[in-house]
Amino acid sequence: PLRAPVAAATPYLRLHNLSKRFGSSVAVDDVSLDIERGEFVCILGPSGCGKTTLLRAICGLDPQSFGRIEQDGRDISQLPPAARDFGIVFQSYALFPNLTVAQNVAFGLENRRQPRAAVRSRVAELLELVGLQALAGRFPSELSGGQQQRVALARALALAPGLLLLDEPLSALDARVRVHLRHEIRALQRRLGLTTLMITHDQEEAITMADRIVVMNRGRIEQIGTPEAIYCEPATPFVAGFVGTMNFIDAEVDAIGRARIGEVALDCTVEAFPGTPVRLAVRPEDVLLSTDEDALHGIAVEVRALEFLGPVLRLTLGDAALGARVLYADLPAAQARQWGLSLGVRLMATIEPTAIRVF
Ligand code: ATP
Repeated sequence: PLRAPVAAATPYLRLHNLSKRFGSSVAVDDVSLDIERGEFVCILGPSGCGKTTLLRAICGLDPQSFGRIEQDGRDISQLPPAARDFGIVFQSYALFPNLTVAQNVAFGLENRRQPRAAVRSRVAELLELVGLQALAGRFPSELSGGQQQRVALARALALAPGLLLLDEPLSALDARVRVHLRHEIRALQRRLGLTTLMITHDQEEAITMADRIVVMNRGRIEQIGTPEAIYCEPATPFVAGFVGTMNFIDAEVDAIGRARIGEVALDCTVEAFPGTPVRLAVRPEDVLLSTDEDALHGIAVEVRALEFLGPVLRLTLGDAALGARVLYADLPAAQARQWGLSLGVRLMATIEPTAIRVF
């Protein structure tokens, strides 16, 4: 059908004040989001934050209670799933067990009564796209998890949907396959220019795959931003704590506006009255260590645990001034070797002032 031309500035998918209630509980709470054409957006959040509910509303499987969804400038809020233009891949593969790989991929095309030759060539094209030409005649039970998920992807792309929805597509796979498929899916998405929305609870997956991440918590959006912005400039304590490892340190504003931890004033100004309690968020890589016990501005700490993470050693540091809290600090493995670090060693810790976030 002919559509009115849409201004270039119109986002491809627009969620407008979307809410979903189950009885008196609110699973999705006033979510608004624009996704540009060709963009890969991840919805990231803990279990129960409303990711699945949001996705089901977008596909029309479980319509929203309030709000509007627009795809390519068209209001699709009230359309049944079959009338919406999307392909979806689920966590559980959801392939037809009694159909071969080729038949699984052909299923949607045959339902649209496309000519047999056209179906055959489209299936071959899709299997090539996901690297499964050689397995066309196999049944799902004869495939690995990663291969099954590629079939599911090919099937989702069969009808050339405008929008690809990925519902935790990698979480049932083992770590190696998962990392490999991340790259494959991203490369394919870029090559085809597919507008893609993926939901995941895996922060590493979101950071490595997404153009933009939407962090959700308790049905609401906490922050929308590039992976770098989400990691380096978390807008809320929730985002800071959910993405990556974060130290939260209780501090107080001193007489000249610096944050002070115990007796140690940091070189970072806080716009608040003296005496105001603040929470500092600091990444382990921004805790700087020195073996010089006379180092200025340092917090004297003791190594309480060491964890080898490959290129860095993650230290758990304790100190009376930090109270019951511990501080995590990452130290390059070579440096740790040079210092001959072991449990109980005393160090001075300072914090890179530009890396501190104050809440
Ligand atoms: P997970 O990662 O565990 O799948 P999620 O982020 O996808 O979690 P949702 O499944 O969207 O979370 O659930 C959001 C909230 O809505 C939860 O509190 C859940 O208990 C509730 N909920 C979801 N579906 C229903 C339903 N059909 N009836 C009642 N409550 C529901």
